[in-house]
Amino acid sequence: MTLVPPPFMWGCTSCLLLYAGVLREARVGDGAVRAQLALAAHLVEDHPDDVPPPHAEGCRICPGYASNPDPARVARLWAEHRVREYFLPERAARRW
Ligand SMILES: [Zn+2]
Ligand SMILES: [Zn+2]
Repeated sequence: MTLVPPPFMWGCTSCLLLYAGVLREARVGDGAVRAQLALAAHLVEDHPDDVPPPHAEGCRICPGYASNPDPARVARLWAEHRVREYFLPERAARRW
């Protein structure tokens, strides 16, 4: 997994604008988390077919969502967790 966003993001103006915000905030801003949440929310809402499957191993976040007694309630948060690998290094993407 590289830092470069996947091809489908390059074809979406919203993805590019939000990704630019993530990069900018990572360097100079204090809104890094907010920028990441905004991009993750956009990916889940507008690119549902591109949300990755649950991480099989090496992730301490996915098992918690997988065993949640109320799947519908956590579906959105879980999807936002999985799309972070499109714009964050794997270690950072799987931390939350
Ligand atoms: Zn997009
Ligand atoms: Zn995961």
